[in-house]
Amino acid sequence: MQAALRPSQTESQAHAASPLFPPQLLARLDKNGPRYTSYPTADRYHGGFGEQDYRQALQQRRAGAPAEPLSLYVHIPFCESVCYYCACNKVVTRHHDRAARYLDALAAEIELHVRELGEGVPVSQLHFGGGTPTFLSDEELSRLMANLRRAFRFEADAEISIEVDPRTATPERLAYMRELGFNRLSFGVQDFDPRVQAAVHRQQSFEDVRALMQSARALGYASVNMDLIYGLPLQTTESFARTIEQVISLRPDRIALYAYAHLPTRFKPQRRINEADLPDRETRVGLLSAAIDGFLKQGYAYIGMDHFALETDALAIAKRRGELHRNFQGYSTQPDRDLVALGVSAIGRIGSTYSQNAKVLDEYYAAIEAGRFAVERGLALSADDLVRREVIMDIMCQGRVDFGRIEARHGLRFADHFDRELLQMANLAELGLVNLRPGELQVTGLGWYFVRAVAMAFDGYLHAPGSAASYSRII
Ligand code: SF4
Repeated sequence: MQAALRPSQTESQAHAASPLFPPQLLARLDKNGPRYTSYPTADRYHGGFGEQDYRQALQQRRAGAPAEPLSLYVHIPFCESVCYYCACNKVVTRHHDRAARYLDALAAEIELHVRELGEGVPVSQLHFGGGTPTFLSDEELSRLMANLRRAFRFEADAEISIEVDPRTATPERLAYMRELGFNRLSFGVQDFDPRVQAAVHRQQSFEDVRALMQSARALGYASVNMDLIYGLPLQTTESFARTIEQVISLRPDRIALYAYAHLPTRFKPQRRINEADLPDRETRVGLLSAAIDGFLKQGYAYIGMDHFALETDALAIAKRRGELHRNFQGYSTQPDRDLVALGVSAIGRIGSTYSQNAKVLDEYYAAIEAGRFAVERGLALSADDLVRREVIMDIMCQGRVDFGRIEARHGLRFADHFDRELLQMANLAELGLVNLRPGELQVTGLGWYFVRAVAMAFDGYLHAPGSAASYSRII
């Protein structure tokens, strides 16, 4: 393991005594920026890429690498009630019968893929996200899984994961999902403080989550993740420290800690949040510092942007070995795979293309029920996009860029292609965020906390003034 790739023990101890995020560094680096679950980011996709382009990408895959394993993503958009911080694509309804038509559409969409890709393509990873996947009943989940298993061939050790809303799950449901083959869970916790939960309209008790966690362990789920959010209304450093303690007491394998981005003009539910209740910038920094400090002291490794994992977890091991990857769900141990995404608004990646389905349910239904893919926009990556994607993912995942490797793979001279970016790296090196050596760039322990800022320097779309305005802030 390369010591500079993660905060060392000495560094994490030092954080307890000194501010983790010095004000002068924050003033320069806490700006808006993408999270790089893809590069180029989804806001660069355009309507000039449509159904025919997607079909062609699938056909090229079939001709070129038909036996390569796929990743699958299934989006379930329905939620019983709205959380006020929500920025997801969802449909709020208590009418569970609305799931029936959606499952029919998913079945048809699966069938469309089989026609282009052939039957029995191997699958190494499947993720159910939302919305609320556990909005579906046991029978509905069972039907969906049966359709997927008929169409694809799941590898014996495939990772099959689902996002679980603790308000719609019971230990019995977890047992049923385990029987269906799910082996990974992600619980949406966000915050355990009842006042914060009331302010964001998402109430779930610590005791209920603890009971689910105990069941997940007893049922042999291989990995359990918990999602948390800092920056929510009424959060204080004391209240959030209690949540962190409670989370640590449950010992999830992985923790995702997201920053709340208050963008009420873009996300309607956020208009119900009382802005006066939002923590100020100093408190936000305190919340994040306390969380990082608490997790590092209790046996968790900092994986990278937003993510922590037990030192024994596969993600932490992959990080130490320099084998980490990043996809639309965040960090992953799985190598980059083509990703077939099913459902409204779902984003997939086939070869050197990205594509996104229609975001409006009726438009998604109209396409699928007419026998067409529902792709609404996308992007065919240019040669420059491809090299920048590799550099950005190397930074985000390994914290290191080997210039010689990039040159050999893309037929360019790194210093010429990235002359402007290397000047920016020299500035970041002065701030202690990166080490710039002959032939390589390495992110330092401190730099990992600002890894987005390092990656942004290589983003070919962010050079125009104001081009990052629509993203969330780094801290
Ligand atoms: S945060 Fe999740 S559960 Fe809440 S409304 Fe949004 S998608 Fe639904």
